[in-house]
Amino acid sequence: MALVGRVLTVECPCAGTPHEADTITFRPVMPLAGGVAGMAAIAAGAQALGANFSSIQLAEYVFPVYLAHAIEAWTFTGADGAPVPLTDGDAVLPFGVKYAIADAADDLFGEEISRPLVAMISRSYPSGPTASSTSPNRSSGRRRRPRSAPSSPATSGATGP
Ligand SMILES: [Zn+2]
Repeated sequence: MALVGRVLTVECPCAGTPHEADTITFRPVMPLAGGVAGMAAIAAGAQALGANFSSIQLAEYVFPVYLAHAIEAWTFTGADGAPVPLTDGDAVLPFGVKYAIADAADDLFGEEISRPLVAMISRSYPSGPTASSTSPNRSSGRRRRPRSAPSSPATSGATGP
């Protein structure tokens, strides 16, 4: 699987494997509805997950937005040989393929979507550096530290898989 420009190539997952490979072409730009949906998804994810979330947890919120908004065309076909409509992708394609598509979309559009959100956040939480020009010792300014590990409910016998 490889992303070249706006085109992702994947192993053919179609019924009967009729293709040597399939390609997914992403839109040249993220549509407004998709970008705003992505921002909202990131914000909702960050709020629900708290400070110490992982990117895979955030993906739960954001990746479906990519599948719905970031794709311009693909070559997948159904059992009858007819093209799979873009709107049917989630119902038809194997998870691994959808994940690869969303992951590639994140490479293409992730920063674009999160940039306005980051700007919004830094506006509502202004941080120190410009606060006071007469501050005598700026270097010793208090620094907010991420809270140490939250007291997670004891998971008895937590021996990971
Ligand atoms: Zn195929």
